[in-house]
Amino acid sequence: MKKGEFLLGLVFTPLGIRGVFGRDLTTLDVLMITNSFGRLLGEGSTVVLGMDTRSSSPLVSKAVSAGLLSAGVDVIDIGVAPTPTIEWAVDFLNADGGVVVSASHNPPEWNALKLLGERGILIDPKDSETIREDYLGRKFDSVPWDKVGNEMEADVVEDYIAAILSLVDVDSVREAGLKVVLDPNGGAGSIVTPYLLREMGVELTTLNSVPGIFCRELEPRPEVLKNLVSLVRAVDADVGFAHDTDADRLAIVTERGEAVAEDVTLALVVEKVLKERRGGTLVVNIASSRIFDDLAERYGGKVVRVPVGEVYVARKMLELSADVGGEGSCGGVIYPALHYGRDGPLAAAMILERLAKEGRKLSELVADLPQYATVRGSVSGEVNWNALREEILKISKERSIVGISELDGVRIDSEDFWVLVRPSRTEHKVRIVVEAKERRKAERLFNEFVRIVRDHVS
Ligand code: MG
Repeated sequence: MKKGEFLLGLVFTPLGIRGVFGRDLTTLDVLMITNSFGRLLGEGSTVVLGMDTRSSSPLVSKAVSAGLLSAGVDVIDIGVAPTPTIEWAVDFLNADGGVVVSASHNPPEWNALKLLGERGILIDPKDSETIREDYLGRKFDSVPWDKVGNEMEADVVEDYIAAILSLVDVDSVREAGLKVVLDPNGGAGSIVTPYLLREMGVELTTLNSVPGIFCRELEPRPEVLKNLVSLVRAVDADVGFAHDTDADRLAIVTERGEAVAEDVTLALVVEKVLKERRGGTLVVNIASSRIFDDLAERYGGKVVRVPVGEVYVARKMLELSADVGGEGSCGGVIYPALHYGRDGPLAAAMILERLAKEGRKLSELVADLPQYATVRGSVSGEVNWNALREEILKISKERSIVGISELDGVRIDSEDFWVLVRPSRTEHKVRIVVEAKERRKAERLFNEFVRIVRDHVS
């Protein structure tokens, strides 16, 4: 079976195992998968367990715990917590791994397991494959009665907030008297980010902050942040922040009420780090904007690209001791001084520090970034990838292409645009990203590549 192929609707990817709860992802599935994960870590290991605010999450979390305990693994249950808090807690509590119960930005009926290894980094794709094979073989091995793991509870939210505060200049933020509006959309961020921001002395207004009540679409795309935009304008705020349900993502709205693309969140943080460190190593995925190459050039840094997926970014960052990185297309900032996962609350704190210390408006900081027009989209269906790949390589020979990368799908770079075409790992889709200096050119190229992809999809 190929990577990302569907199993009765349950999707296995290196980034997590996800499906509609009760239909594709059942309580029994969760038991089997986490028993396998527990056996992989080994008897006597310790795992941190946390969850988002979905209605199915408490049940899934209990099944995770049972699966791990049955493999002789000890569980430290930290309850409702953002994904970044759980990742950070794996290191903080000296655990061997972690399990995050959250379907992130997927709709409310979905749930998912994100399996973490040492240092809170997603497990190796080879280990995901072992777990998938165990699952397909319906393998469940229980330890005997005297080897069952122990379950403990811990509350780490205050320590996590303190860890973020130790990395930013809180005094400057307090003195700046910033006004902030936050929309955590009832996700796990509701129990962390408002408290973090209040500790930083900002004047905070929240909306959609009742845990478990999702008031807008879960993915914080600019188009769904209308209420946040209105409130930023109404209270004359300096910035608006929004999370997905597990708060690894951060979307931002400027003081002018503009919801900006999520690449910008990462770019603002990357610029801060490269500027302060006068360079450094930056890791981003192949679908990320040229903004990052330009910023690296501006501050004397180096860009390393990896396939799409947080696991690839995080592992490369660890390997290179990178300074900063992330996944631009989803506002995911990774700053290893805290941990090796995407972190929405940390990104919010770092952006507030920039506003306070630089004394400039957010819209000005955004306008100072290199400007590109990006168009993203997908074509659904089964793809004949070899034929499509050949076609794209043929096209690249006819144009003035300066670079071709096959790190993940095919990316072709010319002087003034680039195009990435890659098969999705989680759905029967081909994803297309086009970036150019001018929006019309990006749109024209995007439409052209949609037509090319359609010819190879059934
Ligand atoms: Mg998420």
